[in-house]
Amino acid sequence: MSELPGLRPVWGEVDLGAIRANVEILLDAVAPAQLLAVVKADGYGHGSIPVARAALAAGAQWLGVALVEEGVTLREAGITAPILMLSEPPLTAAAAVVKNGLTPVVYTRRGIEALAVAANKSDTSSALAVHLKIDTGMHRVGCTPSEAPELIELISSLPGVTLGGLCTHLANADDLQDSYTDDQIAVFEKVLEGVADRPDLIHAANSAGAIAHPSTRFNLVRAGIAIYGVAPSLEVSKKISLLPALSLHARVAFVHRLSAGAKVSYGSRYELKNAATIVTVPIGYADGVPRSLGLTGGEVLINARRYPLAGTVTMDQCMVDVGDDEIAVGDEVVLLGRQGNEEITAQEWADRLAMIPWEVVSGIGPRVPRRYRGEV
Ligand SMILES: *Cc1c(COP(=O)(O)O)cnc(C)c1O
Repeated sequence: MSELPGLRPVWGEVDLGAIRANVEILLDAVAPAQLLAVVKADGYGHGSIPVARAALAAGAQWLGVALVEEGVTLREAGITAPILMLSEPPLTAAAAVVKNGLTPVVYTRRGIEALAVAANKSDTSSALAVHLKIDTGMHRVGCTPSEAPELIELISSLPGVTLGGLCTHLANADDLQDSYTDDQIAVFEKVLEGVADRPDLIHAANSAGAIAHPSTRFNLVRAGIAIYGVAPSLEVSKKISLLPALSLHARVAFVHRLSAGAKVSYGSRYELKNAATIVTVPIGYADGVPRSLGLTGGEVLINARRYPLAGTVTMDQCMVDVGDDEIAVGDEVVLLGRQGNEEITAQEWADRLAMIPWEVVSGIGPRVPRRYRGEV
C-alpha cells in the first residue's frame, strides 16, 4: 500500500502502551513462566514489527509467527529476539529458516531431516534448536504421543539440530467448563514423563490456557489475542483485565437527507420509516468491515453516540442512519473502539456475526493505514 498520509480518511489506531501493559499483566499472571508474543498475521492486524518491539520492551522473551516470511519480516526490521515458527516449515523453506535464525516447530521425520541438512550446509556453527509438537487432541498438526520418543531420538542423533522444546496446542482452553484441556495436558504430561533429557522449554498454553488454566503454563506461554487486549471468551475475560490496543476510525465522506420509504444500499434491505439523514463512511468489507454487519444490528460511534449501519456494507463504503442529528462531512466515525463513554469492541462485532474476535482484528486489511500511539 502506498504511504500517502492523510489521503484516505480511514485509519486504524494501535496503542502500543496497551500492548506493553497487556504483556506485563500476562507476565505477572503466568510467572515464573516466560511469555512468547504471537505476532503472526501481521500482529493480528496490528502490525507485527511495532507489536513485536512493544512486547519485547515489556518483557516478552519470545516471538511467534506462522510463516517463514513473517519471521523474515521481523529479522529484516532488526529484531534479534528468538522467533518460534508455530508449525513445521515447508521442506523447501528449511534453508530460509536456518539463514534467518528462526526456531521451527517440527513433527515429521522428513521435516526434521530437511532442517538438519540445511543447518549442516550453513556456516553457523551452533546447532539449530527445534521444538517438537505433540498432537494431544487439537488434531491440526503434530506427531502422535507414541511417535514422540523416536522423533526425539532422531533429533538427538542428527548433527545440525538439537531439541530446544516440547510443545502441544490446546483446542478448548477458552471454555472453562470443558475438561478437554485437562485431558490434553494429561496426555502431554505422559509424553514428558518418558523423556529422560528434557529440553529447556515446555509449552502448551495459548492466551486462554495462560490466563485460565495454570496447569497449562509449564515454563512458556504463547499468547496472541490477549496481548492485543482482547479476551479469548467472556468467561476468560472475568479472570483478567486487558486493554484493547486497536481502534478503527474514519471520517464522514458524504451526507444526504432521504425521505420516508427510501431504501439504502445493495438489495434495498434498509427502508427508512421516516425521513432521515444518511451519512456515508468510506470504509467497507475490503477493509475488514464485514458486509453483513449492516444487516445484523451493527453500529458505529459519532460524537460519542451509537448510530446503526444502514443496509449492507459495500466493498469500500458503508452508510449510517443518523436520524435527525446534525452530522457533517469530516466528522469522525469510530467503528471499533471508544468515543466518550461508548465503546464498540471486537467481541461485539463477533457476537453479531457469529465470528470470533481473532477474525475481527486480523481481518482489518492492509488498505487501512495504521497509526501508532505510545511508541517508546
Ligand atoms: C495462534 C497460536 C497461538 C496464539 O493463540 P491465542 O489464542 O491468540 O493466544 C498459540 N499457539 C499456536 C500454536 C498458535 O497457532
